[in-house]
Amino acid sequence: MYVDSHAHLTSDALFPHLSQILDRAEAAGVEAIVNICTDQVSLDRAFAVKRKSPHLFFTASTTPHDVEAEGESFFPLVAEAARGGKLVAIGETGLDFHYEYSPKELQKKYLSKYFSLSIETQLPIVFHCREAFQDLFEIADREYRGRPALLHCFTGSLEEAKGVLDRGWYLSLSGIVTFAKSESLREVARYVPLDRLLIETDAPYLAPQSRRGKINEPAWLVETAHMVAQAKGIAVEQLAQATCENAYSFFSFSKHLGNV
Ligand SMILES: [Zn+2]
Repeated sequence: MYVDSHAHLTSDALFPHLSQILDRAEAAGVEAIVNICTDQVSLDRAFAVKRKSPHLFFTASTTPHDVEAEGESFFPLVAEAARGGKLVAIGETGLDFHYEYSPKELQKKYLSKYFSLSIETQLPIVFHCREAFQDLFEIADREYRGRPALLHCFTGSLEEAKGVLDRGWYLSLSGIVTFAKSESLREVARYVPLDRLLIETDAPYLAPQSRRGKINEPAWLVETAHMVAQAKGIAVEQLAQATCENAYSFFSFSKHLGNV
């Protein structure tokens, strides 16, 4: 069995096909999915579908890309959902200096706001970080020291992976690890201890190598699991069990069942 630790099922690309997508996920052995809500529409959809599937869990925050346009309007809704026990984590928040769709200073401001909310509500954080690890580490060391986080869709260097692990955080690998050119990421997969690793699809984005360019979905997590297991030289069942345990522990699934 697998847990998809990061998917956007309530996005426009996937939501209309949700019931078939969940059926295929179940048939593929994906027993739980963490859905990332990034705006009011996706959060509203999350609340509507939660009753239908006990194996969906939700996080929310504006992504670093969109904080300029939507950061202010969405923040109170995230705060309300978090305080109401409807989320298993805050995120994906963080810094993206690769695209820099929103100004760096504004990305940092919202990261700080979400740190405060996370500390207040005792929910862990899901980070998105691209070409901004130095700043992320600096701000987190100041404002979020010793607290739980998951670095989603990790694509950084081995040094940056060490920085993540040194802070006691988890690291999640997406379908990018299956791409032919991702040898350095497979090196990270080999390096990260089994008790700190999660896997994800980031659906509808980042379909794995055999489906590259298609609309991704949680059922295709299996290909990523096989690649990570192969990189680590272990059986896929062992990888599946460890990453499930890590997800249950990090997101406290059992505590949140039936909360929405
Ligand atoms: Zn995402």
